[in-house]
Amino acid sequence: MRVLAVGAHPDDLELYCGGTLAKYADNSHEVIMAHLCSGNKGGTNITPEELAQTRGNEAKAAAKLIAAEVLGPIAGDLDLYPTEQMRIKTVDIIRQAKPDVIFTHSPNDYMADHVITSQLVFDASFSATVPLYKTSLPAHEDITPVFYMDTVAGVGFEPTDYVDITDYIETKKRMFLCHRSQFQWLEGHHKFEPISMLETVAKFRGLQCGVTYAEAFRKLNSWGRLRTERLLP
Ligand SMILES: [Zn+2]
Repeated sequence: MRVLAVGAHPDDLELYCGGTLAKYADNSHEVIMAHLCSGNKGGTNITPEELAQTRGNEAKAAAKLIAAEVLGPIAGDLDLYPTEQMRIKTVDIIRQAKPDVIFTHSPNDYMADHVITSQLVFDASFSATVPLYKTSLPAHEDITPVFYMDTVAGVGFEPTDYVDITDYIETKKRMFLCHRSQFQWLEGHHKFEPISMLETVAKFRGLQCGVTYAEAFRKLNSWGRLRTERLLP
């Protein structure tokens, strides 16, 4: 299978589905990690241009650990809107990735870039399959199933599906640790220590489904997105 995960910022996928992506990769599936925003405002005492460069490199280093491809960004942080131009760019990410399954943020996550990423992916994953919706790439064949990732700290998120990531928790941590520029920022601005948060949430979700560590997802339950086989690893 071809697995496309679309996060808002360069470290989101590692936090919310890194173990699942590592498991897919280990089972010989193709993994593509996209971030729609450059990460250029997630820091202090650095220019947005320098930060975008740093965070792009961090995303590549994390993806490299599971031999994943990296796509994006299409906008700066807090510059993502549900406009026609952004939808076309998101359609092209999907048309380029040709996914069998897509992961993205929950529509009720904690900040605008995450919520708009979710909305753009919902819109674009249908639009991408319409041949007369013209962009620079040919249409994707199938309306793709979508799984929403857990929210930050699991707030307001009701899972429908779980992935046992017990064997991949260390890879997930190593992937997140590539995002060195974010430790100080998250502890200072977001008031949490990311590795501890990552571990706590994975343990909590594991407790819900009877394993040591898990990641939780919610299936997009609408026509065209449902399949009879289990798509999660
Ligand atoms: Zn984010």
